[in-house]
Amino acid sequence: MQVYKLKVNRNICTGCNICVVSCPINFDQLKTKSFLSEKNAVILVKNGIAFDVYDENRKVNCDGCGVCIQNCPQSAILLEIIEVK
Ligand code: SF4
Ligand code: SF4
Repeated sequence: MQVYKLKVNRNICTGCNICVVSCPINFDQLKTKSFLSEKNAVILVKNGIAFDVYDENRKVNCDGCGVCIQNCPQSAILLEIIEVK
């Protein structure tokens, strides 16, 4: 199984939140649950830095669509594909 892992460059991320609001999965979660937290979002900003949230026990995780990467004004996000069993 492939897992998508976001790497955010802490030196250039400004915490602008654009990645968080542009992510289609976050948007779907907002529509259905009316909030974003580490329980349902796949990318969030904390202490001024974006970070990805992955939980193998839940249905929804980052699907590697790349929308956050395209929208980041700082080009601070890279996407890694990790193979897990
Ligand atoms: S869009 Fe880019 S600069 Fe803005 S919070 Fe996300 S990673 Fe950081
Ligand atoms: S790659 Fe797509 S699904 Fe993953 S955090 Fe970025 S916008 Fe969301």
